[in-house]
Amino acid sequence: MNNALSIAAKGKGVFNTARRAAVIMGRYGITAHKMDGILAHFARLLDEYDCGGTFPLVAAALARSRGVAEKYQGRNLEYAIHGYYHIDHKQLSFEQQAEHFSRARLKFESQGLAVSGLRCPYLRWNGDTLAAIKQAGLLYDSSQVIAWNVAKENESESYRRVLGFYGAVSADEHLALPRLENGLVRIPYCVPDDEALIDRLRFDSGGALDNPWLAILRETHRRGELFTLGLHPERIHLCEAALRETLKAARQLRPSVWFARLDVISRWWLELADAQVQVRSEANGLHHVDVSGPKGVTLLARNVDTLLEGKYWDGVWSRLNGTSITVQSEMRPVIGIPPASPARLSAFLRQQGYIVETMEDGRACSLFIQRESFNHENEKALVGEIEKSTAPLVRLSRWPDGAHSALCVTGDIDALTIWDYYLRFVGR
Ligand SMILES: [Zn+2]
Repeated sequence: MNNALSIAAKGKGVFNTARRAAVIMGRYGITAHKMDGILAHFARLLDEYDCGGTFPLVAAALARSRGVAEKYQGRNLEYAIHGYYHIDHKQLSFEQQAEHFSRARLKFESQGLAVSGLRCPYLRWNGDTLAAIKQAGLLYDSSQVIAWNVAKENESESYRRVLGFYGAVSADEHLALPRLENGLVRIPYCVPDDEALIDRLRFDSGGALDNPWLAILRETHRRGELFTLGLHPERIHLCEAALRETLKAARQLRPSVWFARLDVISRWWLELADAQVQVRSEANGLHHVDVSGPKGVTLLARNVDTLLEGKYWDGVWSRLNGTSITVQSEMRPVIGIPPASPARLSAFLRQQGYIVETMEDGRACSLFIQRESFNHENEKALVGEIEKSTAPLVRLSRWPDGAHSALCVTGDIDALTIWDYYLRFVGR
């Protein structure tokens, strides 16, 4: 079997592939008219909640279409690249991927569509994918899957199998947050998405399984992380109630949830990591903090005297007014790290919004963190340790304007017509 057909069968199982093919007949049309209606409906729904969306689209399908995708430019929607062809990129070399991604980008641009990110078909990538994305001049990748443990009783063998197929990491062990890797922003993709819900967890609204997206929303909000809610537009009708319920609940949460597209989130993450913070301490325990950062940057403080009243935020941290503030604290309210610390440690802490200073003497700050090595696997535990400690700290919020977490609705468009859908199986 060729790349496209064998990978589709591997991901879904041969039976599911055949069953899906029958279902699919009803979803796409001979022309893009049907998909156009679906996108219009999706766009209207998102508008109702003042929510944008990110739609990774296969470049070959775009190339075969005329005017459908372009119509939604100017709405609060963003397209990303979903491969030039809908094939398994894990089996492609660096050169092949770089060529596909550059060609895809040119195709989008030639049709007047700006793209700044990519999600790999089948959520599968290899060690060369990130460098190829970067070489194509893109800002972000959203192909790493993070799995939330929210469907315990409904969890099936087929669900576990697909998590392996995706190379998913567990949200029990990892943060669901963007991360900078060699200048590329990597944004995890949360599952269960619509496909896992419908095909593998047998979710139907009104059934025994509570809406798992609500559970992910609550957890990401509590943890201050990002919920990328995956919903393929072709299935909007099957998941509309669950989506509405989730967006409505998200709008009601306090502190707020930031609704943003992946391109906006990527830029925010880069700019936040670049924010300049100055802390000037006086002998009387007054600390003047000045931030120059992106619009919407928010200062938070805990266990310090905020002189001017800080606003209640989440029970631990208070939100401070403005980007130039004075607090009182016996210790300098920042995180200190020794000069020999791994570069990844300070880069990671800065991306979380913590104020980090390199120092020999840990007594000069309220929280001193020493690590001989530090990698991806240690990130969640470190954040847990910092958040659990009671050390006085001032920090930047991870999200703009005092939001506690973020949410992006995102759905891959594999095909615009039934022809696109079947051409996938011959890798075109
Ligand atoms: Zn796809």
